[in-house]
Amino acid sequence: MESQKQFNRRFSFEFFPPKTDQGKEKLQAVRDQLAEVNPDFFSVTFGAGGSTRDRTIDTVLSLHNQGISTAPHLSCIGGSRESVAELLDLYMENGINRIVALRGDLPSGMGAGGELRYANELVSFIREHSGDAFNIEVAAYPEFHPQARSAEDDLKNFVRKVKAGANSAITQYFFNVDSYFYFIDRLEKMGVTIPVVPGIMPIVNYTNLARFSEMCGAEIPRWIRKQLEAYGDDSESIRQFGEEVVTGMCEKLLEAGAPGLHFYTLNQATASVNIWNNLGLAQRDKISF
Ligand code: FAD
Repeated sequence: MESQKQFNRRFSFEFFPPKTDQGKEKLQAVRDQLAEVNPDFFSVTFGAGGSTRDRTIDTVLSLHNQGISTAPHLSCIGGSRESVAELLDLYMENGINRIVALRGDLPSGMGAGGELRYANELVSFIREHSGDAFNIEVAAYPEFHPQARSAEDDLKNFVRKVKAGANSAITQYFFNVDSYFYFIDRLEKMGVTIPVVPGIMPIVNYTNLARFSEMCGAEIPRWIRKQLEAYGDDSESIRQFGEEVVTGMCEKLLEAGAPGLHFYTLNQATASVNIWNNLGLAQRDKISF
């Protein structure tokens, strides 16, 4: 973990672009609540194949123009170089300087590929097209990506993304902190030392968490699963237990030298803010980009 201690810590919140006017209003209220704790940036997801293209752009620009730096996610699968270049130009014109570059997952039946097949190809294309205009974040998988041929291959893929020009990474969420420490150690041994920021999923709803974790390959440890199952419909107990577990995890990560935290908010403020306050992050110095 030594390599991670040299970096300034950054704290960020992720949103998805709302579909309806009601969703937009709700996100505005969530944004206002989260802006009060003064994060370093927000990020906004992008549906693979461009399915949320316009909504992502609207959300990014609206958040960015309200004064907190905002990073669009950009996934390349199913897209073309031309469509990616258009987005990059638009973001550059609007003063965006950070991008989360991903492959994305197409829904089954929508085919595969496109001109840029993997995230490392997208990172190379962004560098080729936009030089150093963007700080490029890529995804990292301490518990390994579900489609990776092997753990070794997945690590090599991560290194490919770094060599292509990624500046830093955000991890898939995990509840086994040792997987993160081990991942960082492996990277250090391979000579890779960019900030790898843990992605944090607050626990608020067990059914959704279990379904999503199954899809993205994040393991819910048995002791957490059993306890959440035992709470059944008691959402207040799930909330309290979840907050305690995730706060404890974040404490361990930060104590060991993790270079910040990235919260998957799912467009809800309370759980993230509670963890934030438990960690005493309100007192931190904000970094400047
Ligand atoms: P890649 O790094 O390209 O890797 C994908 C898989 O291919 C891995 O298994 C890798 O080992 C393998 N691989 C890579 N290169 C090769 C190669 N040359 N040959 C063979 N195999 C290879 N999804 C969205 O659709 N929109 C979002 O906004 C979004 N945001 C995310 C944010 C974060 C922080 C994270 C962690 C994930 C996000 N995702 C998002 C999900 C992500 O798109 C999926 O996990 C996707 O399956 C992989 O994307 P990637 O960028 O990690 O892909």
